Amino acid sequence: MSNEPATEPTLHFKRVILKLSGESLADSGGRGISAHEAGEIARQIKQAHDTGCEIAIVIGGGNILRGAQFSGSNSLVHEATAHYMGMLATTINSLAMQDALEAQGLETRVMSAIPTEKIAETFIRRRALRHLSKGRVIILAAGIGNPFVTTDTAAAQRALELEADIVLKATRVDGVFSDDPEKNPHAVLYDTLTYTQVIEKKLRVMDGTAIALCSEHNKPILVFNFKQNGNIVRAISGETVGTRIG
Ligand code: UDP
Repeated sequence: MSNEPATEPTLHFKRVILKLSGESLADSGGRGISAHEAGEIARQIKQAHDTGCEIAIVIGGGNILRGAQFSGSNSLVHEATAHYMGMLATTINSLAMQDALEAQGLETRVMSAIPTEKIAETFIRRRALRHLSKGRVIILAAGIGNPFVTTDTAAAQRALELEADIVLKATRVDGVFSDDPEKNPHAVLYDTLTYTQVIEKKLRVMDGTAIALCSEHNKPILVFNFKQNGNIVRAISGETVGTRIG
């Protein structure tokens, strides 16, 4: 494919959290899991991992179920229950991503915030750090294990806990825009933003809890388009891509 990084990627960040939405695993309809899409993301992650960067992945569940939406359209299910269902959806995606990554020759571990011992290790910070130091890609399932937040918060929280250099938020658009670029052709793409600008302009970057956590602890966020081939490697290599917040 074209658009691969021009030069050999070098190590810039030592450790990153890569946040993938559940929809990133789906075909264009945004539902289910596509072997092609998962395989393509895994191929890019393998390239990025080859630079020597330690990678922890947080995957969402929106291709299967989001708690807030599901409980809104289904009065039988309590909203908290719906959020737990959403967390299980992230586990389904994490298992798919694990096999996709291992097909690329990577060693991986799924670590879940909700104990599901037959399919994943329970998340333990020190064990996660050990896996990373051994070159394993870890896939963090079930968010933070508590309802009423999204996996954006999990990405921010795990970035703090695991002392990742940055949260890389992979999206289908080129970064953070002044308005929805799919609806407003005049929307402007920002190169950089402060946390205060994100909050004051009510920009939809990550959920509010995630922004608050990153802001309070000065953890940078990069929002970038993973659909552009080579961008995961570029982002991890510290190349100018997307919008940087922090
Ligand atoms: N979720 C939760 N707690 C968490 C992480 C996720 O309750 O720590 C639930 C929440 O309902 C969320 C759903 O799991 O909507 C799926 O995650 P998310 O919406 O982040 O998926 P994405 O939009 O990234 O695909």
